[in-house]
Amino acid sequence: MYTPLTLEADIMKKAEDFSEWYNEIVEEANLTDKRYPVKGMNVWTPYGWKIMRAIDTHIREEFDSTGHDEVCFPLLIPEDQFAKEKEHIKGFDAEVFWVTHAGLTPLDVKLLLRPTSETAMYPIFSLWVRSHADLPLKTYQIVNTFRYETKQTRAFIRVREIHFFESHTCHADFEDAERQVSEDYDILKRLARKWCLPYKLLKRTDWDKFPGAAYTVGIDTVLPNGRTLQLGSIHQYRDNFSKPYEIKYEDDDGQHRYAHQTTFGMSERLVGAVVAVHGDDKGLVLPPDIATIQIVVVPVLAKGATEAVSEAASKLTDELRQAGIRAHLDERDIRPGAKYYDWEFKGVPLRLELGVRDMDKGMVTVVRRDTGKKQQISRKGVADSAKAALGAISEDMLAIAQTTMDGRIETVDTLDHLPDSMVRAGWCGSEECGHKIEDITQRDIIGTPIEDEGFKGLCVVCGKPTTTPVYVAKAM
Ligand code: ZN
Repeated sequence: MYTPLTLEADIMKKAEDFSEWYNEIVEEANLTDKRYPVKGMNVWTPYGWKIMRAIDTHIREEFDSTGHDEVCFPLLIPEDQFAKEKEHIKGFDAEVFWVTHAGLTPLDVKLLLRPTSETAMYPIFSLWVRSHADLPLKTYQIVNTFRYETKQTRAFIRVREIHFFESHTCHADFEDAERQVSEDYDILKRLARKWCLPYKLLKRTDWDKFPGAAYTVGIDTVLPNGRTLQLGSIHQYRDNFSKPYEIKYEDDDGQHRYAHQTTFGMSERLVGAVVAVHGDDKGLVLPPDIATIQIVVVPVLAKGATEAVSEAASKLTDELRQAGIRAHLDERDIRPGAKYYDWEFKGVPLRLELGVRDMDKGMVTVVRRDTGKKQQISRKGVADSAKAALGAISEDMLAIAQTTMDGRIETVDTLDHLPDSMVRAGWCGSEECGHKIEDITQRDIIGTPIEDEGFKGLCVVCGKPTTTPVYVAKAM
């Protein structure tokens, strides 16, 4: 158990300066320690790591139950393997960290720290995939990756050592790879519900897709400042990688065919997104499914009844634990108000207060972190009521976050006087108009929706009628 805060920190208001608020919250809640002497490589603190681990657990459960196998590939990739797919190397070249020596000896073939693992895995996949029977090959790993970020680093959002999830699959043909992409959308939906994170699936433009991909679908959420935060991405590679890496199989008719591949990547940014989307001026607000402590029990001690209250609070905590709830009893010798402040800052979803008056009435006082709503519930059957309350918190947090995110997207029919929010505008689909949209707005085209939104309008640049809207924003 970590030591909660005891100081009342003076935190920037979220609405005033979102970016500064984020930095302060992350720091004050002790989710990360940025004092490590390599820029962009932060230390996971116990509290931050527990949140990350909860997310990883959800990911493992989902991918294991959909027929993926967890693997773990080496960190170092030889330069010649990395260079095989031309687009890929062009996209990552400037971002990799190199290992040039083994001891005092310069290496003949330099090694790089994986920025992502295609080029580590695919030479081996070419050995694993031999016949039709080996397909589909569905794997994933959760490892750290390294990218030399030149932009300003920010905890969880832009770092140089990244806690990373990546699934890599091989399929007999394009259609089967497409089915995998659909399955990924379903998996994502279930996961995002647990994390109470709203998102949009936006297909990247050809000039912005993942290096080497046939197409890329970004998973983006919109932050209070109107900027987008990419939570992850899903890629269809077709046979773009299987050709240079020779991942081929013998078909039933004896023909050798190249596999079609997909990947799905997410990272520690999910922690950043949870902080950014749900946090408020009082600190973190954690979705119950990822909260390290779901319920904190605070005994409200009164003179003459200290022991009785302590004992009752301890019993209450045990009961919650036995029901599978992550409950913590705060027995510190400080005033209840200071405890409330600490646990609110730490984002614990539910607080149970137990005092003499509650006990006399056979009740427990319950306070929700997300809404601040306080009510009394019966002591009898408290575990069931608490579980129901956690479920309600989860649902409400997602619903509110979704409405809030939708409110940060505005449809416009001209690029003059754009709001700060993300905008949706008509686009004819031509690269020329696309670049103009980016030049005029000084923002990025995040992408086009993967589902038909029933949009009818005109391209904001050339005026051609179109049914394709484009989403434009600054990326965080
Ligand atoms: Zn146009």
